[in-house]
Amino acid sequence: MKVFDLLFGANHSFVERSLYTTIEVGIRYFLFAGVAWVLGYWLFRNRWFHRKIIARFPGSAEVRREIGYSLLTLLIFGLVGAGTIAASRAGWTQMYWKISDHSRAWFFGSVVCTILLHDTYFYWTHRMMHLRWLFPTFHRVHHLSTNPSPWASYSFAPAEAVVEAGIFPLAVSVMPIHPAAFGLVMLWQILFNVAGHTGYEFHPKWLMNNPLRLFLNTPTNHVMHHEKMRGNYCLYFNIWDRLMGTNHPDYESRFREVTSRPVSNAQR
Ligand SMILES: [Zn+2]
Ligand SMILES: [Zn+2]
Repeated sequence: MKVFDLLFGANHSFVERSLYTTIEVGIRYFLFAGVAWVLGYWLFRNRWFHRKIIARFPGSAEVRREIGYSLLTLLIFGLVGAGTIAASRAGWTQMYWKISDHSRAWFFGSVVCTILLHDTYFYWTHRMMHLRWLFPTFHRVHHLSTNPSPWASYSFAPAEAVVEAGIFPLAVSVMPIHPAAFGLVMLWQILFNVAGHTGYEFHPKWLMNNPLRLFLNTPTNHVMHHEKMRGNYCLYFNIWDRLMGTNHPDYESRFREVTSRPVSNAQR
């Protein structure tokens, strides 16, 4: 409850709110990216190597750049988050504070709806940021990582960080959301985001022979996006890329190649 009050209490100044929100998103980023880093780039680096989508590791200068831009992103997420909470406290959004104000079913329904909204928002803003006249300002920084590490999850130019943060004010404007429900969406977000950038394919080989492949996104999909710059724009699900025909033509064959490698390739 204390943490809830720190983040969402009614009587904070904007500076206090920004600070608390930055710390909260920062803890989430460093915890999830840190665990992925320790597991995939340290403890199981050799054992999992056969599933490393790009069969080499990024250099330390690249990792430092990813962390540097991510720190800037945390600050921007803190500012946009604080602004959205302040606007909500002023009654300008549909955010609600007592879980009992809506049904328990809606609490979980709002989590699902926000995930679907975020998936759609991400796909279309991502495609826009790939337009030639928007790319340099918005999206070039994220694509400096051609072989991303988990730290690339928030490696955005400031302009892209504002766009990515936009899901929070958008979601609370279009539907009633309790802060704890949005918190669950953010846990889901960081889990998928870090998994997509860590560079290992953990899905089973049979996924590409199963109808689930039409819905689920995979780390191979996003790592290929970093490698090729074109195609594979989706986030949690593969639905928009399928509908719009924007999966990279080699996506499925690359997934099959990665998941078919013999384990004996592992020792490097
Ligand atoms: Zn991109
Ligand atoms: Zn990425």
